Amino acid sequence: MSKARRAQPERKVGENGSADPRGRAILLDFDHTLFDTDRFFWVDLRSAFARFGVPEETWERSYEAIWPLGYSLAKHLDELERLGVIADHEIRTTMLATLEAAFSDLRPYLFPDVRAFLEAARHRGYELILLSFGDPAWQSYKVRASGLAPSFQRIAYTAKQGGKGELLDVLGSSYAELRAIDNNPADLDSMKARHPNLLTHLICRVKPSDLEGPAGVAPDRFREAARYLSIPPRLAHHRCWSLDEVRL
Ligand SMILES: [Mg+2]
Repeated sequence: MSKARRAQPERKVGENGSADPRGRAILLDFDHTLFDTDRFFWVDLRSAFARFGVPEETWERSYEAIWPLGYSLAKHLDELERLGVIADHEIRTTMLATLEAAFSDLRPYLFPDVRAFLEAARHRGYELILLSFGDPAWQSYKVRASGLAPSFQRIAYTAKQGGKGELLDVLGSSYAELRAIDNNPADLDSMKARHPNLLTHLICRVKPSDLEGPAGVAPDRFREAARYLSIPPRLAHHRCWSLDEVRL
């Protein structure tokens, strides 16, 4: 996806003094990096299903069943109907309309530092590229509903594990400076392994104090984000807790 530029990239000067005509860009991940996916999905969306009388355990089981096929609200409701939790198709249709209306605006789920960071990066001349993992239709809905689409010059989705490294193959030679910000150490590893000059930032939105409680169990508020804490990075990445720490 390409958008009109609001700022021209600052050009890098090479060792011989000649300007590198290529610009610079930042690759940004979406879930748990820009978007508080756990609060949206595991807290608010699950609560909305519960208000329709869907038991939490059934909701999770049906989610696990359809997730490998690519998540969508419609598929989730279809599975609940198949299990007999939703009595008939008319109720399923009403639930879908109600949920889509309730979650049509996802801007409140952006982390508070996102807007200012994207603005500052554009001001400094970086192109912004969203590289997102997940079902393309579901990812596209979240990006659009969070109001972020116009902020990016390119948006790419991959449903393949490790697919970000392959997406980067296409972009890698197009920029003089390329950075990546992601909460998944495995994705940063796969990108940096193929492009050693990539500047990588491993962002963690979960504070150690967020996980205090019963030993070894992350509360649903940090359910998915906390899992990435247990993935050891193979390569070195700059670590940060917020986008404010990424020096442009
Ligand atoms: Mg992520």
